[in-house]
Amino acid sequence: MLSRVRSGAVLGIDAVVVEVEVDMTLGLPYFNVVGLPEGAVKESKVRVVSALKNCGFDLPQKRITVNLAPADIRKEGAAFELPIALGILESSRHLERQALDGYLFGGELALDGVLKPIRGVLPLAVAALRAGFGRVMVPAANAEEASLVEGLEVYAVSHLREAVEHLTGLTPLEPCRRGALPNPTVSGPSPPDMSDVRGQQDIKNALELAAAGGHNILMCGPPGSGKTMLARRLPGILPRMVFQEALEVTKIYSVLGQLPDGRSLLQDRPFRSPHHTISDAGLVGGGPLTRPGELSMAHHGVLFLDELPEFRKNVLEVLRQPLEEGQVHLARANQNITYPCRVMLVAAMNPCPCGFFNVPNRACTCPERRVRDYHARVSGPLLDRIDITLQTKPLSYRFLAAPEGQELPSAHYRARVEAARARQRHRFRFELATHCNAQMSPTQLRRHCKVDKGPARMLRAALERFALSARAHDRILKLARTRADLEDHAQIDEMDMGLAIDCRIMDRRGWLGDAPLPKRAEDRFLDTLMGTPIASAHPTAGMDPRRVSLGEQREQDFGEAEGGGSRGRGD
Ligand SMILES: [Zn+2]
Repeated sequence: MLSRVRSGAVLGIDAVVVEVEVDMTLGLPYFNVVGLPEGAVKESKVRVVSALKNCGFDLPQKRITVNLAPADIRKEGAAFELPIALGILESSRHLERQALDGYLFGGELALDGVLKPIRGVLPLAVAALRAGFGRVMVPAANAEEASLVEGLEVYAVSHLREAVEHLTGLTPLEPCRRGALPNPTVSGPSPPDMSDVRGQQDIKNALELAAAGGHNILMCGPPGSGKTMLARRLPGILPRMVFQEALEVTKIYSVLGQLPDGRSLLQDRPFRSPHHTISDAGLVGGGPLTRPGELSMAHHGVLFLDELPEFRKNVLEVLRQPLEEGQVHLARANQNITYPCRVMLVAAMNPCPCGFFNVPNRACTCPERRVRDYHARVSGPLLDRIDITLQTKPLSYRFLAAPEGQELPSAHYRARVEAARARQRHRFRFELATHCNAQMSPTQLRRHCKVDKGPARMLRAALERFALSARAHDRILKLARTRADLEDHAQIDEMDMGLAIDCRIMDRRGWLGDAPLPKRAEDRFLDTLMGTPIASAHPTAGMDPRRVSLGEQREQDFGEAEGGGSRGRGD
């Protein structure tokens, strides 16, 4: 007798409905699973048979054939064990055919019939709803995750016997109540706060600018200058995730089986910081089991690459395309898989292998050639995708000795970032694929980044003087647009443009380039062009000593690099 039970297979971060057909015929006892089963699915027959026997069901001595359709999708994981067991019970008339109608099942069986949690329940529930199923039955440990999907009755079972008794009507279960959602009280431990970091206002301002427009950023500076510490605080100043974004992120962690206990919906933006020994499959995804990589785990959040030059060259190369597209495409033997990866890339590096090249009052011990080789490891197309480059320096004594409570909290920056993002949402209200300034296409750039004569003249001068590429030209414009959004004015002015140009120091000759590094003070574009230091020209300078512009702080600290020693390796 033939029976059909519905389940689902995870494909990328979505699931497709799979029909589990179980056929029992007379013949020598035999159990076979067909329909492109992989690894754990092939083993499932052993567990299913044991679980059924240990629950007291007598299996008829017959040929059992299980087909997983459609046959052209690879079936991985152990989610098919519950549906296979139920299919066998229906074929052997322990269950009525109509009892299984309208359900989608998933669950792994232990030998004693206990149901174990599976990966990818959230995509499974979404697929169930889309395919018109009203009910899903999943292991109790996954129930919370499944109940994120509105409009589904979720039945949580912890034992095969419990499932059978519910389906036969012996002891019916109540569907799970929809969990707390979206309830801010279930969010995880609060992320670290900006106010924990003393000084370093220029890096904080740069991160605020990066967050406001979704720009990628590279920080270069000696160890102990706060690069890692500040990068970790970036998710706390990014705008809060909307429900749709949170659902996408949760799906990725559901597929990986890495949802933290007791939290059905991830509401904090992810921060991923892979070690530099990571493989390309670990970073973008793939491998024998086809899983999302670190890049996708940072979706809607921050991917932090510390010690950028230490990453293997091929690993950095595979990042380029996904960074541009916001998606990773993996070609498998017979199917293509896509994972989303809309991330903000934050990279950090030392100026040289010893860490003190061009650092005031410190001596670099590296031979010149090693410094060049070190820089050469990150130059090129990846740098082209970074909008802001920033030189950081050790904290000066004046900040270390400052009393506590002087620093602005993350909430301050987040409010400004959210205001800037609101302006961008309004700007791109008819261009749905674009969410922030960093994602503007060349056409959008021409439409939204018109500049007056003054800033245009500055941009032209910078392009000529520093021999910047066309790509750099576009990136400067986008950054200037973001700075104008952040400072709440419609037109890009000269301050915006000057600051955006200053954020492209990596394009200058001498920085990561072939000539010795010029002194930063001389390399400042605004100063040389306008003849005035940025501090006095900045409209907000002097109003609030804690709110200074990017370049200004750099200038101040450069002038007073008195006890600016390192606080030691590692932030
Ligand atoms: Zn050195």
